[in-house]
Amino acid sequence: MEERATQEAGETCHEGFDPATYLKNFYSPEEALLDREDSICSWMMARLQRVFNEGDVKGDLLVDIGSGPTLYQVMSACEVFNKVILTDILDVNRNELKLWLQNEGGSKMDWTPFLKKACELEGRSPSEWTEKAARLRQVVTDVLPVDVHRPQPLALHALPPGGADCLLSCFCLEAACTNVASSNRALGHIGGLLRHGGHLLVLGVLEEIYYCAGPGVWIPVVSLDEAQFCDSVKRCGYTLIRHEVYTLPQDIKRENDNLTGVIFVKARKN
Ligand code: SAH
Repeated sequence: MEERATQEAGETCHEGFDPATYLKNFYSPEEALLDREDSICSWMMARLQRVFNEGDVKGDLLVDIGSGPTLYQVMSACEVFNKVILTDILDVNRNELKLWLQNEGGSKMDWTPFLKKACELEGRSPSEWTEKAARLRQVVTDVLPVDVHRPQPLALHALPPGGADCLLSCFCLEAACTNVASSNRALGHIGGLLRHGGHLLVLGVLEEIYYCAGPGVWIPVVSLDEAQFCDSVKRCGYTLIRHEVYTLPQDIKRENDNLTGVIFVKARKN
């Protein structure tokens, strides 16, 4: 997919995104705080484990939109779906994912604590993390370019004709968009990749203004509150099944943090 040279109104520019900085800022052990039940990462992992354990979110193919350089989001999903496709607009992120998936020592990111956490949440022994890593590497069949601002975000024929059975997207729409109209448009575009009756699962930040994606790289994001988030999902052709909100505890808030919380949405395409 060719990179678009210019940004339209409402679209962010991700030049300067540095996977290593992003991973360190949000997913290193000292930031992820997986040993604390009330950390953002523990909360997200628990939401994801629960939703993939409920039984109704299932099928052959799950597509994760805007995966960035991260894998935590599909660690429970990989036990339920036969195939998982990861996607991102940036080569650097897709390359980072491929390095981990190839398992030839090229990735500097150690996902072990997250794999152990996912096992624990599933009621398994953390020592089974190696089996989970192997399952993840087997189930992820592709890492593809995507652009949520295109009416057709993936290359033609990237997915089977009916579309995916489930779409997951974590912190991508707000990062790709600077206003609500653009974010709603993007949500509509990715909906085209999902079969009717398929599930949409979204993790999003609430009321954030920017995020740090590289040394000195602060990317503006669309700042939505809980009601706007739910409204967007309903407007874009989905039935909202449930939403849950996480509020950042004061003692976890970092100096440069400007987000108040995180929202998790489970919806079904009409
Ligand atoms: N899902 C990951 C990464 C979120 S960071 C996580 O949970 O941490 C936001 C991601 O959105 C980045 O990887 C960025 O490259 C991607 N992104 C930005 N603009 C995009 C666009 N127009 N289409 C698809 N992805 C985009």
